[in-house]
Amino acid sequence: MPELPDVETFKRYFDASSLHQRIGHVDVRDAYILKGISARELARGLKGRRFKSTHRHGKHLFVRANSHLWLRLHFGMTGSLHYFKHEKQAPKHTRVLFVFANACCLAFEDQRKFGEIGLIENVNEFLEKRALGPDALDITLSQFTEILGKHRGSVKSILLNQKLIAGIGNIYADEILFRTRLHPATQISALKAKTVSKLFRATRYILKKAIEAKPDMDRMPKSWLLPHRGKGGKCPRCGHELKSATIGGRTAWFCVHCQRQTS
Ligand SMILES: [Zn+2]
Repeated sequence: MPELPDVETFKRYFDASSLHQRIGHVDVRDAYILKGISARELARGLKGRRFKSTHRHGKHLFVRANSHLWLRLHFGMTGSLHYFKHEKQAPKHTRVLFVFANACCLAFEDQRKFGEIGLIENVNEFLEKRALGPDALDITLSQFTEILGKHRGSVKSILLNQKLIAGIGNIYADEILFRTRLHPATQISALKAKTVSKLFRATRYILKKAIEAKPDMDRMPKSWLLPHRGKGGKCPRCGHELKSATIGGRTAWFCVHCQRQTS
């Protein structure tokens, strides 16, 4: 499921492939993923324009077409972007195809169709409407401390809550907690200031490193939880078998030996 590092990678891919070209037409192959807009409106809104710049917030990607028109993309569970030379090369689960004047195409592919595409006028208004928290890589330590101080619950459910901090999903929340040596069910109220700042630093470190890895599973450090996550996996730090539990409605993987619960 695309999280902040994946969406940042899509952003960079979009920037490198699809900016500044005239959009010839937009081919909506499955209108199911369109939100608040019809296929015709999307095609009409973008035809003849150029994508000018991109902006990412949490797991959302926004692409500016002009000062009052932004394409918004959310990748759901299986969404991704593919740029290629000819319409015939479109991947199987292409839902929307942006065809540029030079016949090159950008496909939004999404097998399971939990993704979203829309057109909006104002990014900030959209973020407010969705009540999304600040982006996990934009946030400062004092903001982070304030957010954690104001809420109750397990540290994992706080990290996953997009309304508090946007961008972290199940996989990277587990990785951040593994690095901080915190049990995912640890109550936020039990954390000392020193641990909060450790958690903050781990969040930045893991997300940035994952972006550098593009984020390709094979390029993730072997000292991370990610390559070992799953049944029968062993902790890369101590060798104990990893355990799983449902915390905050999601499956958490962790090492009970390295990640003790503090209260
Ligand atoms: Zn361990």
